[in-house]
Amino acid sequence: MFKQQNHSNSNDLNKPPSLEKNSKDSSLGSGAAWMRGKIVPISEASIPVNDWGLVRSDITYDVVPVINGGFFRLSDYIERFYVSMDGLKLDPRLGENGIETALLEMVGASGLRNSYVTMVCSRGIPTVPGSRDPRECENYFYAWCVPYIHVIKPEVIARGASALISDSVKRIDESSFDPTIKNYHWGDFTRGLYEAKEQNYDTVFLVDHKDCVTEGPGFNIFVVKDGKLMTPIKGVLHGITRRTVLEIAESLNIETEIRKITKQEVLDADEVFVSTSAGGVMPLVRVNSTIFSNNKPGHISKKIRKKYWEWTELSCYRTLINYSD
Ligand SMILES: *Cc1c(COP(=O)(O)O)cnc(C)c1O
Repeated sequence: MFKQQNHSNSNDLNKPPSLEKNSKDSSLGSGAAWMRGKIVPISEASIPVNDWGLVRSDITYDVVPVINGGFFRLSDYIERFYVSMDGLKLDPRLGENGIETALLEMVGASGLRNSYVTMVCSRGIPTVPGSRDPRECENYFYAWCVPYIHVIKPEVIARGASALISDSVKRIDESSFDPTIKNYHWGDFTRGLYEAKEQNYDTVFLVDHKDCVTEGPGFNIFVVKDGKLMTPIKGVLHGITRRTVLEIAESLNIETEIRKITKQEVLDADEVFVSTSAGGVMPLVRVNSTIFSNNKPGHISKKIRKKYWEWTELSCYRTLINYSD
């Protein structure tokens, strides 16, 4: 049956095309994984039940997008992944090129032209049975890829996405876990998502213990006020998309500021958007009961969103993939 494309999104709101057939029919087309040097269908990839990544959340990861057959800013993502691993004293036991080679081979074999690509390093299993010493674990690197994911679906962005700033759930304090290390400690985000979804919001923003806004489940937060673009300085992952947005703003002569942003400042903003490798730049139209720019994505948000998709096509940021199909 003919499925109608959404023509209201000619403004690049719907990239990369979510309805595109990503790959030839193959066992890897719905996702592939790189496990100890072998590429397998994602449904066959698994880690041991007693891996500390699972039983201790002792694990870090990174996610890099593939857009139209090329990685975007791959070296920046791999560099951040190394910073995360160093922060947790994890060793992937592969050279830097080893990771890049694994990702290129895996996505090439999957056939996916638009993909959400994850690299992971977990603490692994102690080499001395029963040991409680993290130094005695054999760390484990693996990777997987699936068709591109939007953390807020394009049709939700098109109808106007909303976020709740949670009152009851605070972001894990950075004295307990360093938020600049990409991590799976999602207890706070998951609780926040339940609170938001039960009140019919699309997503959640968390504040820190001083009521400053931090980030949401897998994305950074930006506000626009009087033409100036601002994003929180503390309590956040240094998103590669966040960095790209700041660089785009600079190229457009939009003034930027990285600083503390209170909950009230978000509610008083002219525009609000979020940034992530899984969806790019995503404008919101409502936070709590406050509606922005007449219930439509704001002018500056739209401009930056469009530029983001343009930048993903710039050859200086792209690492092309050799597909086998
Ligand atoms: C991944 C992530 C982001 C966004 O980072 P990008 O590099 O832009 O994808 C923001 N916050 C958290 C908690 C994340 O896990």
